Amino acid sequence: MIPGAFAYHRPTSIKDAVGLLAQFGDDGRALAGGHSLIPMMKLRLATPANLVDLAGIAELKGVRADGDEMVIGAMTTQHDLIASDLLGEKIPILRETSELIADPQVRYLGTLGGNVANGDPGNDMPAVMVCLNATYQVTGKSGERRIPARQFYHGAYFTALEPGDVLTAVRMPVPAAGHGYAYEKLKRKVGDYATAAAAVVLTLSGGKVANCSIGLTNVGETPLWAQEAATILLGSTLDAATVKRAVAAAEAITAPASDARGPAEYRTKMAGVMLTRALARAKSRARG
Ligand SMILES: Cc1cc2nc3c(=O)[nH]c(=O)nc-3n(C[C@H](O)[C@H](O)[C@H](O)COP(=O)(O)OP(=O)(O)OC[C@H]3O[C@@H](n4cnc5c(N)ncnc54)[C@H](O)[C@@H]3O)c2cc1C
Repeated sequence: MIPGAFAYHRPTSIKDAVGLLAQFGDDGRALAGGHSLIPMMKLRLATPANLVDLAGIAELKGVRADGDEMVIGAMTTQHDLIASDLLGEKIPILRETSELIADPQVRYLGTLGGNVANGDPGNDMPAVMVCLNATYQVTGKSGERRIPARQFYHGAYFTALEPGDVLTAVRMPVPAAGHGYAYEKLKRKVGDYATAAAAVVLTLSGGKVANCSIGLTNVGETPLWAQEAATILLGSTLDAATVKRAVAAAEAITAPASDARGPAEYRTKMAGVMLTRALARAKSRARG
């Protein structure tokens, strides 16, 4: 349970962090809250020779509005997301999801950037980012680029990040006022990763679904965007028959592992149950 030896670096600018990570290549890793990376290092599943701590870079922290988008610095902690009144008003699913991650001790240090950059299918925020159609702002050797969350995840722990890249911020469009939302997560005990979870954001017009987006957590190698399921719901009142068809479409794209959280068939069914609950709760919260 003791990590291998590593050198510790604490840059104070994004430019210096990128320079260090580019210099170290595969021998370097960014360190954010450390609540995924350090456990991996203790288990020797990660053995970076150099840790580049992002905690000293002030510009990576904070929440701000930019036109009709919200921009959240990568080093903003899960606790900060819960505490932000701006986010609570504009994108409340972020608070709801953060409150279901681990425990307060983890949330005081764990960051949004670390949660989405990690590439662990068990992390909760990636499916929410896929649901919200977020974009990741990344700075690397050749400058800045933006990667849609829906294109970022290529496999378990395999993302669009290249060695030397720093994820600097997450941008997301603010959902329409009066939207409904819910993040439903089944876990074995408080603080556990999801057996299955579902994120829903929708708007109603005249009691019918005008827009809908759905993300699923930990029922595949990557977060899943359940596009067909959401399309089935458009124009419906979220009646039981239509919800059942949408849930079947969502279950069909899952491919969970059989593990300590249950056999694959069970986890697929639980994704369906979480989605059914999330749709009902989102509907009850939506105006229009
Ligand atoms: C007991 C426990 C329970 C937990 N339960 C949950 C849970 O239920 N749901 C959940 O989602 N998470 C859970 N976590 C994980 C927690 O949310 C982590 O904090 C999070 O996954 C990673 O964020 P971090 O800031 O700690 O990143 P770190 O651990 O520091 O980094 C994680 C990975 O991302 C990379 N990285 C980090 N930041 C950047 C960046 N800005 N640019 C490029 N690469 C970067 C690192 O190099 C590393 O590979 C749990 C953790 C613990 C210890």
